[in-house]
Amino acid sequence: MSDFGGLMLETNLIGGDWVGADSGKAIPVNNPATGEIIGHVPDCGAAETDRAIAAASAAFKNWSRTDLNYRVGLLHKLHDALLQNQEALAQLLTAEQGKPLFEARGEIAIGAAYVRWFAEEIRRAKGEIVPSPTADRRLLVTRHPVGVVGAITPWNFPSSMLARKLAPALAAGCTVVAKPATATPYSGLVWGKLCQDVGFPDGVVNILTGSARAIGGAIMASPDVRKVTFTGSTEVGKALIRQSADTVKKVSMELGGNAPFIVFDDADLDAAVAGAMVAKYRNMGQTCVCTNRFYVQSGIHDAFVKRLAEATEALVVGNGAQDGVQQGPMIDMNAVEKVEAMIADAIGKGASVVTGGQRHGNGGTYFQPTVLTGATSEMSFATDEIFGPLSAVFKFETEEEAIAAANATEYGLASYAYTNDLARVFRLNEGLHYGMIGINAGLITTVEAPFGGVKESGIGKEGGSQGLDDYLETKYMAVAGLG
Ligand code: ADP
Repeated sequence: MSDFGGLMLETNLIGGDWVGADSGKAIPVNNPATGEIIGHVPDCGAAETDRAIAAASAAFKNWSRTDLNYRVGLLHKLHDALLQNQEALAQLLTAEQGKPLFEARGEIAIGAAYVRWFAEEIRRAKGEIVPSPTADRRLLVTRHPVGVVGAITPWNFPSSMLARKLAPALAAGCTVVAKPATATPYSGLVWGKLCQDVGFPDGVVNILTGSARAIGGAIMASPDVRKVTFTGSTEVGKALIRQSADTVKKVSMELGGNAPFIVFDDADLDAAVAGAMVAKYRNMGQTCVCTNRFYVQSGIHDAFVKRLAEATEALVVGNGAQDGVQQGPMIDMNAVEKVEAMIADAIGKGASVVTGGQRHGNGGTYFQPTVLTGATSEMSFATDEIFGPLSAVFKFETEEEAIAAANATEYGLASYAYTNDLARVFRLNEGLHYGMIGINAGLITTVEAPFGGVKESGIGKEGGSQGLDDYLETKYMAVAGLG
């Protein structure tokens, strides 16, 4: 079995040492494209997590006081190491996660870009000198690293989701205890190796695999962990917010979405279809910003559906490691069954399948990319996240109706609209209750802009200048008696 150029680590990083679980137990990791077990990772729990937190706390004392230039230099080296290993890292990512190689290469590249962005952005993390109401005082506002950060990441972007958390934390002078998702641990563990290779001190980055409840529980319970950053389901995010109360931690939460993709009659049809394909089918529909609901105005509806169905049918489904494949397998059988249940529910309520609708002939967790029309607000995907390659198309008549339908969800992460009406663009900006809006764009994630949701989609932002804020504490100091 390949070890992906030494980048597939089967131990955990605690205080600079690569170790197994205390129990000696390990968890198998499979390749969703083949069903093969590709390796095992430690099944760690609370005791190992407590040691990692202790190591991170000890390391914080020095790390938080290092020269900014030193931290920035290490981050630039980390950026370069990621890109030097991009191909092997992408292959490892595809092997454990299933996404096509071209997407995996892109994920490594954007992860590296986050590292570089925060290396640059930390230089602008300025404080303030505030005018004092009296002549004998000076008022200073300074910014400081929050402390030890707990980072819990999901399986759909196992590399770049950690990048968005590690990079600002390390830039700010925080130390980290990270827990990657059990389904895709290798793309997380390798960050530990690369950090070590480029010279990050022991204890600054610690990475554990194993029971989510045990590791998550220890992170949440520890008074030494001052901030928790989580990407995953809204359900788990809510549980973590509750658990954070006892120690009053800062939290940032990137949770679920229910993205609307609105196509108006005046849209450029070619651009709308191209945007729809990327907004829907990237990572087999398994991203929190993937379109969940297409709302298409009646004048363009039939033409859009025809073109979307043709493009959907043309997608090449297969093992993501093979050249030319555009759609890999889904992450696991639960994901397949959820999509199947949603399709059955919709058909039962009057929807029609235009293309796909069934498990793919490849077997395993492959699923046919699917387009359904006649979607209504009674169907399960109107309110629940699909997280699969299913395009559900709703028809609408007026802009007001589309905006109201788009907002009729507790989520508020990404939204998309295709239109050439400038005044409407600004009505959408004000009317759509979403943290992110793509106008005539189906892919909007970029390191320079704040990624994050409103409502039950989350708290805090990742990327942009805002992405540093959660890792910095503000202190106010009054200096009195200056005469
Ligand atoms: P997803 O469906 O994207 O896997 P989850 O919310 O289930 O979303 O998982 C996201 C991350 O949260 C994973 O690393 C998972 O192991 C972790 N996780 C799941 N349940 C808990 C929990 N109770 N406490 C802490 N972390 C958890």
